[in-house]
Amino acid sequence: MYDNEHKCSNIGQNEKKMIHTRNLTKQYRSGGIEHTILQNVNIDIEAGEFVSLLGPSGSGKSSLINMFGLIDVPSSGNLILMGHDVTHLKERQRVNLRRGSIGFIFQDFGLIEELNAFENLELPLQYLKYSKKIRFNKVNAILERLNIAHLRSFYPKQLTSAQKQLIGIGRALVIEPDIILADEPTGCLNSTGGSSIMQTLNSINESGSTIVMATHSANEAEKAQRTIQLFDGHIITENIKQRL
Ligand code: ADP
Ligand code: MG
Repeated sequence: MYDNEHKCSNIGQNEKKMIHTRNLTKQYRSGGIEHTILQNVNIDIEAGEFVSLLGPSGSGKSSLINMFGLIDVPSSGNLILMGHDVTHLKERQRVNLRRGSIGFIFQDFGLIEELNAFENLELPLQYLKYSKKIRFNKVNAILERLNIAHLRSFYPKQLTSAQKQLIGIGRALVIEPDIILADEPTGCLNSTGGSSIMQTLNSINESGSTIVMATHSANEAEKAQRTIQLFDGHIITENIKQRL
């Protein structure tokens, strides 16, 4: 869902792409020295894909995810999301687009401790100004879809890590986002919890959602349909897995 009021230029054939980057570069200046953490990154992601960004710590995965999620801005290059050039959007437009179209899943879940599971899922819908009744219906539908309706009244501290991440996934899904961004979604889970979360992400992708996941684990990355490998801010390889 893209707010037409904030529409920038359409970029021809890239309109159909969920994510299109050309020569995306990110630099930071610290201690008087300029560090390049992403250099000339070219990525195309179509609607419905499940893509993993694989690379060791410090390779630039989170920086890239944060640019896709309109949390951070590129230093140079182009970023086109859902067919619209978002490279030079104003802050208010970035916030609106992010809240309405992008679902985030975090390594540390990012839940609000003072809110129960239902309320954590309801929060992004409150930002979008949905009525109480619509919020109630949407949150319940997602809780049921993820088989976590029984956890609705539990607070984060009463849940296992895997349950917390299911709530995190629910909060990303509840806005019916165009893109789901997951930064090391199993990084705080044991292997059983990790595989169950990966299965959940796979089934969400099979229902049509576009997912981009950052991970340092090759084993995890290969559960996605396509892997883009990063090293020191460069793309080094791309692999496509054949679906069985
Ligand atoms: P990854 O997620 O692959 O571990 P990051 O994107 O977090 O990699 O970081 C890539 C590089 O950018 C690292 O060297 C990190 O120290 C640096 N970096 C990230 N954010 C900042 C920042 N705000 N200021 C300076 N350097 C940063
Ligand atoms: Mg990271």
